[in-house]
Amino acid sequence: MKIAVIGAGIIGVTTAYELALEGHEVTVFERRLAAAEESSFASAGLVTPGYHAPWVVPGMRLKIIRHFFSANAPVRFRLPLRGSDMAWMWSCLRAANAQTYASNRLRMQRLALYSRERLNTISADAQFEFDRSNGLMVMLRSVHDHTRMQPSLQALRDAELPFQELKPEEARKIEPALNPDTDFHSAIHLPDDEVGNCRQFALMLKNEAQSLGVQFAFSTTVEKLEPSTGGMALSVQGETAPHRFDAAVLCAGVDSARLLRPLGLKLPLAAVHGYSVSAAIREPLNAPRSAIVDEHYKVSLSRLGNRVRVAGTAELGGKPGKIHDDALKTLYKILQDWFPGAARHSSGVQVWKGARPMLPDGPPVLGASGIPALWLNLGHGASGWSFSCGSARAVADLIGGRDPGLDLEGLTLSRFQA
Ligand SMILES: Cc1cc2nc3c(=O)[nH]c(=O)nc-3n(C[C@H](O)[C@H](O)[C@H](O)COP(=O)(O)OP(=O)(O)OC[C@H]3O[C@@H](n4cnc5c(N)ncnc54)[C@H](O)[C@@H]3O)c2cc1C
Repeated sequence: MKIAVIGAGIIGVTTAYELALEGHEVTVFERRLAAAEESSFASAGLVTPGYHAPWVVPGMRLKIIRHFFSANAPVRFRLPLRGSDMAWMWSCLRAANAQTYASNRLRMQRLALYSRERLNTISADAQFEFDRSNGLMVMLRSVHDHTRMQPSLQALRDAELPFQELKPEEARKIEPALNPDTDFHSAIHLPDDEVGNCRQFALMLKNEAQSLGVQFAFSTTVEKLEPSTGGMALSVQGETAPHRFDAAVLCAGVDSARLLRPLGLKLPLAAVHGYSVSAAIREPLNAPRSAIVDEHYKVSLSRLGNRVRVAGTAELGGKPGKIHDDALKTLYKILQDWFPGAARHSSGVQVWKGARPMLPDGPPVLGASGIPALWLNLGHGASGWSFSCGSARAVADLIGGRDPGLDLEGLTLSRFQA
């Protein structure tokens, strides 16, 4: 089949690769000059089936109220707050009940495990070498953090995923550069989780896809999708004649909802912004060996080759291009709290603000759109890197009419159409 993929973020690149492996003739349309220039550019890099869970948790209302009064809150509201942001927030609150949370957590875990396997297979087959290290430690500062972590630990036990509860002195053996002056209650070590450079992987896989015949049309913005006889027509900015394909897969990250609306498909997709700061390692002995997450502040610190990256915060509303100093201050505080002296601040520091393409309940939407010849692979929220290889494999299988070997219950559009 002749298939168009819209978007060359991590989701579009992995999708194009999987479709090309199946022998399809694939063209990727990307408005930017290169792959992985938007949400997939400088994420924290965590590939963590043991840790990913919906952000919408039971008891969220109270937490949000508390966040309004906290200087280093993990969630921030910025002005202007649009009507769509408010509506999205309302959908989040409706999903913030124990049953919905538990089901979505399981769905996300299922997809993340499936995806990790596919990531490992692709990386081994293609002999990829990218910045990557094993193990994630979740730092629990207080008894309160420890208590709040218990349902997550139960979920790990239920899924038979390996983890260890560590006392501070044990945690310090795994990450010897942890600041000796920062007291904490305990840590959870997830030895099978990892950190990897999403953008590096996307760029390498793009080359691999090209060698399988995938065409990348960069600097090409898709303006409209329209069903046409036996397929899908794509209108591209600056061109009069539409491009015709047998099928199209929408992987346009936060912009996906805008392209779907004229087709009568309304998806509650929000851009939840976050930040990362990446800096060269000043002294390897003072840097993390792999990755940690500060559970209280929801900020991660990871080692990506010879750089350290601190990432986090969630902003709803505001202007996408505006960097807010208070968010950066939180990241620098967490870096200082856990690994002072790890980063070289004097030059070459990369500050990034990116958008998580987020659905209110957590999991992405994979598969058929209900519109003939249009397929969806979108809404991966805070876990797009972790979910990418599995989501792409599943969508390619569905397009090929095969069972992906992954239970897609709760991972398709039907959950918004019930
Ligand atoms: C601070 C931060 C930390 C994160 N940390 C992690 C993490 O540790 N682990 C993890 O798994 N995930 C993480 N994520 C989430 C992850 O980065 C995203 O889920 C993922 O990058 C989404 O990929 P995507 O391909 O859907 O979107 P994108 O990477 O944004 O790709 C979409 C592409 O579509 C293109 N596009 C859009 N509209 C059009 C159009 N009309 N025509 C042509 N092209 C178009 C865009 O230019 C873009 O390149 C993090 C995100 C942030 C912001």
